[in-house]
Amino acid sequence: MPVYTSDALILRTYKLAEADRIVVFLTRDRGKKRGVAKGARRAKSRFTGTLEALTRASVAYYERELRDLVRINYIEPQQSALAAVARGTQNASALGHAEYFAELIDEWAPEGHADERLYRLGASTIDALASGAETERLARYFEFWLLRLQGVYPQLTVCPECGGAFNGGAVMRPREQHYVCRRCAASDGTTVSVAALRFLRAAAAANPVTLADIPLEAAPSRELEIAHRRLIQAHLEKELKSVRVLRQIR
Ligand SMILES: [Zn+2]
Repeated sequence: MPVYTSDALILRTYKLAEADRIVVFLTRDRGKKRGVAKGARRAKSRFTGTLEALTRASVAYYERELRDLVRINYIEPQQSALAAVARGTQNASALGHAEYFAELIDEWAPEGHADERLYRLGASTIDALASGAETERLARYFEFWLLRLQGVYPQLTVCPECGGAFNGGAVMRPREQHYVCRRCAASDGTTVSVAALRFLRAAAAANPVTLADIPLEAAPSRELEIAHRRLIQAHLEKELKSVRVLRQIR
């Protein structure tokens, strides 16, 4: 049985049999995997405290021939939202956001196919979250980059209909997944202000740590949240579970 040790992000878990859990995790080198954590639901388990969503960890696992499920040997956590809350560098909203980011990665990560850039986005996001990054701003950054990495973020340079600049902000019309300028919009839609566009342009060249220097007020953050939610829903064709949780936290 080949044994692998990988840097990985824990994405989600679910119950298996009486005492076990199936763990879905994204490895840096071999893509998304599903593995059995034996005895993970027992009170004294070696997996206790290692399975929170978006935990960055070193995961050792055995791969069995002709089986989809790998067998997890150990998980050594390096960073997690829960640890950050315990240390006092984060608040409860960090936990909800960690779930949200993990669910988005889970939805988009291809099974068993390495995606180094997606891994790095998730790893740097949990590091930023753990070091106290402001959660809403980080969420807008994460959504923007996730959609960009999938090649589905609408272009921000010029309006695709008139070729003009987005001087007065941009609009995403109903049932469309791109931005047009306000003049071309001609009808209602999801409006993204100049301040929100400025944030996106700066975020394109930033990493989650330098994000702290890029301002984003509550109103433009809300505009981007609505636009990004529409894009995510259009591409996934469903609403995420964690979005409902975030709404409750608020
Ligand atoms: Zn236009």
